[in-house]
Amino acid sequence: MADDCLFCKIVRREIPAKLVYEGDDCIAFRDIDPKAPVHVLVIPRAHVPSLNEASDPSLVGRLSLVAAEIARQEGIAETGYRTVVNTNRDAGQAVFHLHLHLLGGRSLAWPPG
Ligand code: 5GP
Ligand code: ZN
Repeated sequence: MADDCLFCKIVRREIPAKLVYEGDDCIAFRDIDPKAPVHVLVIPRAHVPSLNEASDPSLVGRLSLVAAEIARQEGIAETGYRTVVNTNRDAGQAVFHLHLHLLGGRSLAWPPG
């Protein structure tokens, strides 16, 4: 855990979030500034700054499988969705606690900007 990390604070329930999933090693909550009708962030409970520092393949895999489960719950599994992990400056990573974006509920342009 990192004391001053925003997402660690959400894990510790020190700041509020609209949780949609709570598991042993990851949680998911709605993005505060949604870019699509469904915009959920799936994060590990442990503080990992970015994908560059991730080392546990089962944890990284679980982020994707939790996103797929939430997509089913949200009713977008069949229409489609996108999962995105932004890493460092060129991808615009703003919060340095690993998170996977789940976006859906509308048609998503490709390639991303
Ligand atoms: P990044 O750009 O790092 O991939 O994405 C960070 C995401 O976290 C952004 O989509 C942003 O809207 C979201 N975010 C930033 N602060 C908060 C917050 O306090 N609560 C929630 N739920 N989402 C946040
Ligand atoms: Zn953190």
